[in-house]
Amino acid sequence: MVETGVSKFTCKNCGEHDLIVTHVWTILAGEDSERWQEWGPLKNDHHWHYEFKEKIEENADKEAQRGDFGAFEEDDSASEPEEYEIYETETSRESDEFFVRCGNCDREVEFGWSQPDRRGLIWPVDFSDFNPSECWPDPKYTELWQRRQWLRK
Ligand SMILES: [Zn+2]
Repeated sequence: MVETGVSKFTCKNCGEHDLIVTHVWTILAGEDSERWQEWGPLKNDHHWHYEFKEKIEENADKEAQRGDFGAFEEDDSASEPEEYEIYETETSRESDEFFVRCGNCDREVEFGWSQPDRRGLIWPVDFSDFNPSECWPDPKYTELWQRRQWLRK
């Protein structure tokens, strides 16, 4: 595909031309599960590459609770993993999530994949050459696309 230099994306909120793809995944290890994310720019040719990677810290709420010394000690047992729950030790692709956002205002942009099961290239709905009949929706948009009758038969 020839790069024309003309951007296929123009944010309807802020006029930005850059899109950012974020991949979020969980490393499952019981109580010590970790959330990681990597992100990078999506190019006009639907390819992307990750430039950054970081662990997502999600204990902001917990920290706030700990600061409350007057409160009775909370029973955390409910949140502990049950014995019968099996944790996968490897990264679970099923629980991976992908997001496409405007590089400037962070607006979430719907997108599909050029192949089923979240494979292939990323096709944002806001790209000027977007065609729903050429892609499969990311799972979080399946229902929405169904209502629009965008789903492939
Ligand atoms: Zn924007």
